[in-house]
Amino acid sequence: LRLDLATHPTTPLSELSSVVLLAGVGVQMDRLRRASDFLILPGFIDFIADEVDLTSALTRKITLKTPLISSPMDTVTEADMAIAMALMGGIGFIHHNCTPEFQANEVRKVKKFEQGFITDPVVLSPSHTVGDVLEAKMRHGFSGIPITETGTMGSKLVGIVTSRDIDFLAEKDHTTLLSEVMTPRIELVVAPAGVTLKEANEILQRSKKGKLPIVNDRDELVAIIARTDLKKNRDYPLASKDSHKQLLCGAAVGTREDDKYRLDLLTQAGVDVIVLDSSQGNSVYQIAMVHYIKQKYPHLQVIGGNVVTAAQAKNLIDAGVDGLRVGMGCGSICITQEVMACGRPQGTAVYKVAEYARRFGVPIIADGGIQTVGHVVKALALGASTVMMGSLLAATTEAPGEYFFSDGVRLKKYRGMGSLDAMEKSSSSQKRYFSEGDKVKIAQGVSGSIQDKGSIQKFVPYLIAGIQHGCQDIGARSLSVLRSMMYSGELKFEKRTMSAQIEGGVHGLHSYEKRLY
Ligand code: GDP
Ligand code: GDP
Ligand code: 5GP
Repeated sequence: LRLDLATHPTTPLSELSSVVLLAGVGVQMDRLRRASDFLILPGFIDFIADEVDLTSALTRKITLKTPLISSPMDTVTEADMAIAMALMGGIGFIHHNCTPEFQANEVRKVKKFEQGFITDPVVLSPSHTVGDVLEAKMRHGFSGIPITETGTMGSKLVGIVTSRDIDFLAEKDHTTLLSEVMTPRIELVVAPAGVTLKEANEILQRSKKGKLPIVNDRDELVAIIARTDLKKNRDYPLASKDSHKQLLCGAAVGTREDDKYRLDLLTQAGVDVIVLDSSQGNSVYQIAMVHYIKQKYPHLQVIGGNVVTAAQAKNLIDAGVDGLRVGMGCGSICITQEVMACGRPQGTAVYKVAEYARRFGVPIIADGGIQTVGHVVKALALGASTVMMGSLLAATTEAPGEYFFSDGVRLKKYRGMGSLDAMEKSSSSQKRYFSEGDKVKIAQGVSGSIQDKGSIQKFVPYLIAGIQHGCQDIGARSLSVLRSMMYSGELKFEKRTMSAQIEGGVHGLHSYEKRLY
């Protein structure tokens, strides 16, 4: 077998599988198991990259136009990330390292999102001070703040404060009450709830103001519109939407008794798809939870996982899952393989599970270890329908958490959900790693930081274009063509030795700058 591989490095993966991927023994297992260990040979191009269709299934019933998913981690996905991912054709899964109420509210924000409307703006009351506005400006970057009676949304609108109202005040005036500087309600141009973006645009054009508060018939604030957003007025032709034209949203739950309450709140908030969040999904608990959800909410899509073998996948598919999440120990923050001695190299895991699950029409998500756009292409070429990312989307504007500086570098925190840091925050992430109630907590992840990446509004289009170019080089016009090329043997994979990997990276330069887009 070794000789065969050495002399026929271009053997199609379907044949290699019986040699390399199925082989339970020996050095050969090292050859093709991780993303860096192989390359895909180029094919024939007779189309432009823009034409490559990235439509792919997330679950049996949900199809996305972009195969990209943000991971349910508390430093990756809350409403802002899920909204941005869905707008660009992917989807976000809201994490569950929080109360059920908080999580359901994040789902609600995504489901209620309407482009151009800010439905949860920063609001203050007349008894707040100019100092509070300045602090909000420093923290969030904007100073156009509606003023309501109680300083919260849903309360009566009494005025607005913008930068023009406070810019000319002297230093010492920070204690001035907003009631003294705000433009009072009586002078404000507002729009009624239900107004369309087009109508709002016309009103703003006439009023020539920067903000338009939206009020209901009791004059309570329900949203604001910022002129700067209308000017941007981006088009999102790929957006992932349900039949009511609301953005799609996913959420993670565990498999304990109290997760049933969480599930109820999430479904009330309109969640479209649930992922059962476990590092080892092949358990009686998960199977029971799949049965429970399928019986109580037959239309809710359920993704099981995580799994890395066909045997694990079989049990969950038999239980009725609509999708599978694949990966154990390959995440950037993960120490599972080191600590638990369990897991599987991700290339092999994706190929093996996808190859099995496709017979039942169950799509799989390659979860973890995606470091570059090339890794996305490889995961898709090995049979994954979508990829889930943590570190790649962390430290973006849309990721939860505040930026901080360390050694002059602007950073955001990124941590494993099985890190002690995350487990100490709530018991949900302990459940993922079966360590709730354990006397000694076993960490399965680390906590760290990542450099500011800017907005995913720029990064995701780069990923999309990168995948399209990868498919173009391969000669695949769409992701379904890519997969069938792999299963038919037309797609050729070639192993990459250590020295070939070095050759494939930048080398021989004294210094260089790596800008990706
Ligand atoms: P401002 O005049 O200082 O309020 O800032 P701009 O209107 O020029 O820009 C504010 C930007 O922040 C817009 O893109 C808003 O969509 C965004 N934004 C997000 N959340 C809020 C919020 O709670 N209040 C305001 N005013 N803007 C927000
Ligand atoms: P800025 O350019 O970011 O300061 O914000 P705006 O253009 O929204 O507001 C400019 C000034 O008009 C500020 O003093 C606001 O308090 C005030 N203002 C904002 N909205 C209205 C409105 O609907 N009617 C009136 N009369 N004044 C407003
Ligand atoms: P990344 O994209 O950063 O390489 O990996 C993200 C994935 O790692 C997540 O989607 C999740 O499956 C997994 N993960 C998240 N936190 C932990 C952790 O603490 N330990 C382990 N073993 N895996 C984690």
